[in-house]
Amino acid sequence: MQAHPVLDPRIPQSAYKKVDLSVSNASLGDALSDASRCQEFLTAFLRQENGLVAWGGYLEKRDLYRDFEHFNPDSEHTREYHLGIDFWVYAGTGVYAPWSGVVHSWAHRTAPGDYGPVILMEHRLENTKVYSLFGHLSIASLKGLSRGKPFRRGDLIGHLGTWEENGGYAPHLHFQLIYDLGGFRGDYPGVCSFSDLPFYSRNCPDPIEMLQYC
Ligand SMILES: [Zn+2]
Repeated sequence: MQAHPVLDPRIPQSAYKKVDLSVSNASLGDALSDASRCQEFLTAFLRQENGLVAWGGYLEKRDLYRDFEHFNPDSEHTREYHLGIDFWVYAGTGVYAPWSGVVHSWAHRTAPGDYGPVILMEHRLENTKVYSLFGHLSIASLKGLSRGKPFRRGDLIGHLGTWEENGGYAPHLHFQLIYDLGGFRGDYPGVCSFSDLPFYSRNCPDPIEMLQYC
């Protein structure tokens, strides 16, 4: 079944613009060094492209995470490959269930660079179980959740958080799909090392292919 947009459905498809935040984009400069520089870069990008949502990042190699001890306690295996899709758009934007499902788990992950408020949902798509992870939400999005709470396709899940509450990033949704959660609750790795890429790229399919939009 075609997915409902994960962001406010009033945003037209034509306003989604693919952005390159990879190490190979020389025009980034130090845009990923903090939330306000990142927001400046994205605002300029969207103005130039006449868009509202900058999106991208699946399996993108990024120079964004190495400053966070949380991501890289072990410098041998630098985690720099991004496993979800990011939708960079203003804080407060509504986030919607792409398919029917139930709440699996949630958490407020407060380490710098972590997800901030995050919700995981469980779906069944043509007899395959898949989990969706919504990271960098507002704290208020976690109110009223309960394990197994059902959501229908297109139901409002929550809203995007500000940088103060979302782990310290320019406002964006980290949306990731996962086949085998491996026992994680309220969390799942959103970036991985090169050596772990074969496993994670199989276990975390391309969200854009699954959503069939952008
Ligand atoms: Zn992300």
